[in-house]
Formats: sequence, C-alpha cells, structure tokens
Amino acid sequence: MAKTRPGSLAPKSKPGKKDLDYFTIRGTNKVVRVGDCVLMRPPDNGKPPYVARVEKIESDSRNNVKVRVRWYYRPEESLGGRRQFHGAKELFLSDHYDVQSAQTIEGKCIVHSFKNYSKLENVGAEDYFCRFEYKAVTGAFTPDRVAVYCKCEMPYNPDDLMVQCEGCKDWYHPACVDMTIEEAKMLDHFVCFECTEDDAKRSQNGFHSSPVSDSDEKVETKRRKR
Ligand SMILES: [Zn+2]
Ligand SMILES: [Zn+2]
Repeated sequence: MAKTRPGSLAPKSKPGKKDLDYFTIRGTNKVVRVGDCVLMRPPDNGKPPYVARVEKIESDSRNNVKVRVRWYYRPEESLGGRRQFHGAKELFLSDHYDVQSAQTIEGKCIVHSFKNYSKLENVGAEDYFCRFEYKAVTGAFTPDRVAVYCKCEMPYNPDDLMVQCEGCKDWYHPACVDMTIEEAKMLDHFVCFECTEDDAKRSQNGFHSSPVSDSDEKVETKRRKR
C-alpha cells in the first residue's frame, strides 16, 4: 500500500487560490520553484526527511502556501525493501502525489540522474540520485531490467568500489574476487580469474602450435571474438 503522509491535505478548489511560480522557505533565503526537489519534515523527527519534487505551488486567500508534490521513495520505503545494489542516496520517483503545506519544506536537494551522480567528485548531503520510477501500489519498477556486473550479477551500486577486468571489461566487487577494498585500491591492473585462465590456455596452445612471436596477434584475435 501507499505510505501515509500525516498532515496531507486533499486538494480542493477554493476561491482565492492563486498559482505561484516560487516561494521562499521560511527563515531562509532559499527559493523553491516548480520542478525543484525538496526535503520535507517527517512527522517523526528521528527519521530522514522525505524527498519530493514540487509540481505546483499555490496560495489561498489567507496566503497559506501549499505545494503539490510527487514523492520520491527511499529503498526501505519500497515494497521490496532495500537491496544490496541500492545506493545510500538512491531514490525512486514514485507515482504517488500529495498536497502539503509549504511549511513542511525544510530545504532543497538535488536528485541527479544515475550517470551524473556517478561522476560527482564529492557527494554532498543534498545530493541524491534516481534511476528507477516506482509504482507505489504494485511495487513495480521502471525500467524493470538494468545492466548487471560481476560474478554476483548485481546492478551497479555507485557507493561500492569495483575493479574492471582488462580482458573482458566486466566490473567486479573486490570481495567477489577474493580481494580486500584496500588491495583493490592499490591495483594498477586487474585481470579476472576467467580471463587469466583463458590467457593460460591460449599461451599453452601457442606454445604447442605456433611460434612465440605469434602471441601478440593471438591477444588481438581473442579481443575481436569478444
Ligand atoms: Zn560481485
Ligand atoms: Zn575478465
């Protein structure tokens, strides 16, 4: 079921309502515009803030500002829960909309695309990323398939260090190839176990069937086949 957001207000069409292009977060000079992502105060102070995208801003005749928002869900709020490949700053753009008082907005944040997030040199408190849309009622994700890496065949978690094999170009978790993170950081080159085995076979064949000088060409051949 969709999660409940206490204090959520049903949209009503009252006279005196006025669409706003922006408003300023109370006690700050931060301006929120339609399309911005915001952090909203959760009812339970111990919880991390809710994240939402502002779809519409309006004020009523008494100047109460309300925002129509589209919620982002954190992995732990999704039906399937948090999985190993979910990043610490990962959010799902849900199909769950709500109308809230603008007073519950406590700050702004940036929800990056997965690609841009992976390129960030420093991830700040306000940086998040989103690669999936999420249907709150069914728990379905779009896209429902993503590229997987490593022996464990997991989607990429941008928080986890991975090393790339120079042979097959696949990416590996250090732990999945019996390495520590520290060892992986020290590596200049990495060739996975399978590629190392292939290399061994190839050089054996080379030794039996062709002159040693042939070995460079064989590397090329193997790359082309892959
Ligand atoms: Zn792995
Ligand atoms: Zn490899």
